[in-house]
Amino acid sequence: MRPFSYQRATDPDMAVQALGAAAAANIPLPQALAQPLAGGTTLIDLMKLDVMRPAAIVDINPLARGWSEIEPRSDGVRLGALAKMADVAAHEEIQRNYPVIANSLKLAASAQLRNMATLGGNVMQRTRCSYFRDVSYENCNKRNPGSGCAALDGVNRMHAVLGVSDHCIATYPGDFAQALIALDAMVEITGKSGVRSLPFAQLHKAPGSTPDIETALQPGELISAFSISGRWPRSVYLKARDRQSYEFALSSAAVALDLQDGTIRDARVALGGVATVPWRAREAEALLKGQKFDDGLAQRVAAVAFAGAKGRRHNSFKIALGKRVVAHALQQAVTMEV
Ligand SMILES: Cc1cc2nc3c(=O)[nH]c(=O)nc-3n(C[C@H](O)[C@H](O)[C@H](O)COP(=O)(O)OP(=O)(O)OC[C@H]3O[C@@H](n4cnc5c(N)ncnc54)[C@H](O)[C@@H]3O)c2cc1C
Ligand code: SF4
Repeated sequence: MRPFSYQRATDPDMAVQALGAAAAANIPLPQALAQPLAGGTTLIDLMKLDVMRPAAIVDINPLARGWSEIEPRSDGVRLGALAKMADVAAHEEIQRNYPVIANSLKLAASAQLRNMATLGGNVMQRTRCSYFRDVSYENCNKRNPGSGCAALDGVNRMHAVLGVSDHCIATYPGDFAQALIALDAMVEITGKSGVRSLPFAQLHKAPGSTPDIETALQPGELISAFSISGRWPRSVYLKARDRQSYEFALSSAAVALDLQDGTIRDARVALGGVATVPWRAREAEALLKGQKFDDGLAQRVAAVAFAGAKGRRHNSFKIALGKRVVAHALQQAVTMEV
């Protein structure tokens, strides 16, 4: 165990200030010397594995009073970053108008984890690439920039087929983020200059040549909330995994449709388990708009969603699997009763 300091932040300013140590050193948040602690279900794991080595922990749980609310609004909803995954999944308004969100959370992790873990921590969780999580492997560009990537020629069954680079093929592991990106969510970020808003689609960074820079958060910044405009009662989250609970996605799809008299007026398709970042399949969405649904259309949309996929030795099966997941999710969304 490495020594670290522990501080409880009783208000947002204090949290931001305490995280300022990292800001001063200009270190991207995931590697930063100071880390916020929410549910701790990922951070503590990674500290035990010696993957993350913060010198300071800033416990943000006291901010839950203002940052954990689930607020239905006249046209949309706002979700506090410290809301527990289980509470959001069980919320009546979320189940009725945003089933894609409720299901993405319900299908994630285990009941115990969902009771402890927060929305902000969930979107900020780090990849499950086993080379990243095992420090005996030196060559991981994400953990150890410039060292190479053990997964390229190693065991890459769980790795990404979309958004990859020659520097990193790690999969973004979370489920909730797919629902957020499909619904054009905004993320509210609190930092030393106040609060700023960013499209959720811009929060995560594709690996490119700097896989160690994972998000657009600046040092010292915290996610305080997510907001979604509109209501999406016809929406589903479908997740294929090695076992039916307590398991990350091999492939998942978040689909939201606006269906009027059998015609698709608007469509959202996002993919999980297959990409380096939460993945929006915009070209696939374009095929759906203005169309009547049938199985042929579902197959064409699924093919377009994976048109740019690049499989490797062990993970090419994700392309065929992912297409089936997309087609099935579309069928479920079209036939659901709203
Ligand atoms: C065995 C296991 C199985 C799992 N399966 C799944 C799964 O199937 N699907 C899935 O989606 N997840 C899964 N998870 C991940 C789990 O959902 C996350 O651990 C959890 O959501 C993280 O939330 P937390 O509040 O505990 O975050 P923490 O562990 O407290 O924090 C995680 C990271 O986010 C940072 N952070 C936390 N809050 C904020 C904030 N407000 N602003 C900025 N940074 C912040 C922390 O500094 C840390 O770096 C699994 C985890 C385990 C251990
Ligand atoms: S895929 Fe990314 S996280 Fe995994 S070993 Fe390669 S660089 Fe590291």
